[in-house]
Amino acid sequence: MSDCIFCKIAEREIPAKIVYEDDKVLCFHDINPQAPVHALLIPKKHVASMDDLNDEDRELMGHVVLKIKEIAKTLGLENGYRVVNNCGEDGMQEVKHFHFHILGKRQMLWPPG
Ligand code: 5GP
Ligand code: ZN
Repeated sequence: MSDCIFCKIAEREIPAKIVYEDDKVLCFHDINPQAPVHALLIPKKHVASMDDLNDEDRELMGHVVLKIKEIAKTLGLENGYRVVNNCGEDGMQEVKHFHFHILGKRQMLWPPG
């Protein structure tokens, strides 16, 4: 996707502070952190949102989800963390490339507001 900001980060056309990378996923720090640690984990494959996932993404998404706890460890989130996915208009998704937010190093109040 040529106009997708997260695809551009994955292709190193836009700089980001990379936390973790393998052939399927990329994790980088959010540019506008909402907690002392705020990272974004994306599949390198462009999938617009949770709603756009399909059966062929089953293995990929298993890989993405299982990476979260590994990445959390490297970010020092031994005391816990929050994982968030915003989907669509009511979810207030801003960037239309599927991503998980990984937030921590403070107590994450609920509800978020
Ligand atoms: P969403 O609202 O789509 O779930 O979250 C998008 C997130 O991407 C926001 O937290 C925003 O701060 C972050 N973001 C937007 N543009 C950039 C960028 O160019 N670089 C980085 N690192 N994060 C970005
Ligand atoms: Zn994309």
